[in-house]
Amino acid sequence: MEKMKFNTKLIHGGISEDKETGAVSIPVYRTSTFHQHKLGGEPKWEYGRTGNPTRNALEKLIADIEEGKFGFAFASGSAAIHAVFSLFSNGDHIIVGNDVYGGTFRLINKVLKRFGLEFTVVDTQDLRAVEAAIRDNTKAIYLESPTNPLLKISDISKISSIAQVHNLKAIVDNTFATPYNQNPLTLGADIVLHSATKYLGGHSDVVAGLVATSDDKIADELAFLQNSIGSVLGPDDSWLLMRGIKTLGIRMRVHQENTKIIFDYLKNNDKVGQIYYPGDPDGLEYEVAKKQMRGFGAIISFELKEGLDPKKFVENLKLIDLAESLGGIESLIEVPAVMTHSAIPRDIRLKNGIKDELIRFSVGVEDSEDLLDDLKQAFAKV
Ligand SMILES: *Cc1c(COP(=O)(O)O)cnc(C)c1O
Repeated sequence: MEKMKFNTKLIHGGISEDKETGAVSIPVYRTSTFHQHKLGGEPKWEYGRTGNPTRNALEKLIADIEEGKFGFAFASGSAAIHAVFSLFSNGDHIIVGNDVYGGTFRLINKVLKRFGLEFTVVDTQDLRAVEAAIRDNTKAIYLESPTNPLLKISDISKISSIAQVHNLKAIVDNTFATPYNQNPLTLGADIVLHSATKYLGGHSDVVAGLVATSDDKIADELAFLQNSIGSVLGPDDSWLLMRGIKTLGIRMRVHQENTKIIFDYLKNNDKVGQIYYPGDPDGLEYEVAKKQMRGFGAIISFELKEGLDPKKFVENLKLIDLAESLGGIESLIEVPAVMTHSAIPRDIRLKNGIKDELIRFSVGVEDSEDLLDDLKQAFAKV
């Protein structure tokens, strides 16, 4: 079938059956090496780091669902980000969005800078600031949209146009939106990447990273880097991730239905201050979100009113798990300043708008009545 719709593609995209046996679930090829029938031939499979049929099926699948031509699977989202940044060299300059995952911030500042990459942190919602940050040695613009944890939306088409004019690569971390809601490659980005640990895996049971691109040259270099650095995803995790991806569509539908219900509840709650949710029609993010996304995702961040203790609130939740991570079927809640974003110094965190009392809520697929009951009883205790 030439043009499958999205939910069909999740299930039948990539390599939808094992060529050898017809198995509809791609087998786990748990092997480190492959018999070569001829010395000096060009075998399709030679060594498990270079390529594995299970991983390959997953890589074809992410390429398909991100509307790209090539996919790559890594041992984690961080490994994927590291491989993508490894496309650049000592002395290259990269513009980075000012609200990125804490681990990305750490990778940039504590690791990549040691190898001579230069970074300028910019609010990528401000297109003029993005242009103003471009230097002679600038090679890429890297951003998240929506961002973690403030759910800021940047205009991916416009930023990709700026990148194209200046011969830069536009790189988008699409973890929060997922391909269900947004395909950065069709909006003009050169590379899209994921912490597949989150929505793509979807069940909080696998750590993985995925990258997709349609650019042949980038794909060749990424294949080289993936093999050279070696942080590949193993066949068991590749299988588990494919299993998760098949239900991305039905999960996201319920995730987003629940999120809308929780948003309406929080919006009318007098203990809640600022709420960050791209689907808030009164919010600053709404117009651009509506333009480039098919849905608003399932993360809400919110602040408790001044003087109310977020610790008391999150520790009193019974059903909703106090835990790092997001995108699982179970509802997960956390306090970024203490948990996911604690690697960012407090002054920088506050400058970027991440207050100590900010709470990030990854809404799961439980019955929304139960989630509301849990929130209500915890709010009653603060
Ligand atoms: C979790 C996360 C990462 C890092 O992925 P890991 O799989 O934990 O290494 C990168 N970007 C975003 C937006 C994330 O939420």
